[in-house]
Amino acid sequence: MVSAGARPRNGLHWARRGLQIGVILLAILIPVSGVFRIDPVDGAFVVLDRQIWFADFFIVFGFWLAVASGLVLTYSWLGTAFCGWACPQNTLSEWSNHLMRKLLGRRAELTLDGERVKVAAAKDKALNWLALGLIFLVTAMFFALIPLFYFYAPDIVWSFITLRDDARLAPSIHYIYSIFVIILFLNIAFIRHFFCRFMCVYKVWQHGFKTKQTLHVYYDASRAAECAKCNLCVTSCFVGIDPKKTETFDACVVCGECITACNNLHAKKGKSGLLKFEVGERASDKARQFKNNVATIFGRVRWTLPITAFGVAMFAWGLWDYAPHHLSVYRAQDVGVMQPQNYRINVVNKMYHPAQFKVSIAGLTPRQYHLSAHDLAMQNIGRADVLLNITPDLAPGIYPILVTVSASDGWQETQRIQHVVTKG
Ligand code: SF4
Ligand code: SF4
Repeated sequence: MVSAGARPRNGLHWARRGLQIGVILLAILIPVSGVFRIDPVDGAFVVLDRQIWFADFFIVFGFWLAVASGLVLTYSWLGTAFCGWACPQNTLSEWSNHLMRKLLGRRAELTLDGERVKVAAAKDKALNWLALGLIFLVTAMFFALIPLFYFYAPDIVWSFITLRDDARLAPSIHYIYSIFVIILFLNIAFIRHFFCRFMCVYKVWQHGFKTKQTLHVYYDASRAAECAKCNLCVTSCFVGIDPKKTETFDACVVCGECITACNNLHAKKGKSGLLKFEVGERASDKARQFKNNVATIFGRVRWTLPITAFGVAMFAWGLWDYAPHHLSVYRAQDVGVMQPQNYRINVVNKMYHPAQFKVSIAGLTPRQYHLSAHDLAMQNIGRADVLLNITPDLAPGIYPILVTVSASDGWQETQRIQHVVTKG
């Protein structure tokens, strides 16, 4: 009979796998759902189908304030947990290691100390190498598609995938995609955790916020005798460190694999492992540990959370108050191509869907002006001009004119111009 204590304790491991997969799905869903992407034609950010300009101050500033303070809070509280739990580079590296072990044997690993890959004799077959190469290539081709979703709407990416001619695709897109595939293939096949260990600037940046209180692996040294003939936690660590000696500045990405390994080892004896996660100063007594944790979390949250909340509030306000269209009226001498009695009424649709507009003029009688159009229809984001031509035979004087543009979605804006007519 299997005792309750012998049940494997893989909750941490599967929680991490779930989050890693969730992050990749999110990276695809964010642009596909229109939550965020980049418009390469206008060189603008797109949030919830809205084109964001620098003039949309609350959205731009609120977003950066919330993200920057939220990340600082995360780094100083959770350290490099992003690397272990969310970073796609690590997810792909772990997956490639796993696949390689499956196809080429348990000891076929790209180790960070540069040892040669040890392929099991029984698995050293051309078919296994070919399968490995093909799976890596297909994976690279799939992941290289994700950045495209940040620059093109899903139907355009679909045109690209199905090799259909689409004028909306940049002419160089096939070259750019091919370069992406090559880089990703080399990364999955050869680089993997070498990037994390030796090249990742983002990890160094996160380290800058780590302190002794940041989330780390705690080792119960009072039970050190139980480690006499065991090295399991060290072999389960994919960044190649000893989890019993985690320091403030080491390569630990708090993935928890060592904790799971030790817990499973001790579960057979109905005991808990010697390793666990801890926030706050390292302390042996439980009451002090709890106090430390609460004090650490509160200390960090107290300063950053109000700033994050303020940023989120600004961002939400910016979206609520967002102007979906824009009106500007230029005098003829400003644009330099028309007579002084002419004006250019410029209407912009900032939304990525159709819009209808009505243009009206107040302050002049109908016979004193002519509009090139009273109605405008735009199928997508874009801008259009309506020309206002004022009759040249007006008596000298100042004519205050109101130009009003209203959209079918309820938006309306009025701009006042002063038309001056001088003698002669
Ligand atoms: S897995 Fe646990 S028992 Fe084994 S060496 Fe590591 S901490 Fe000690
Ligand atoms: S020491 Fe443990 S938690 Fe840290 S990276 Fe290694 S396995 Fe993950």
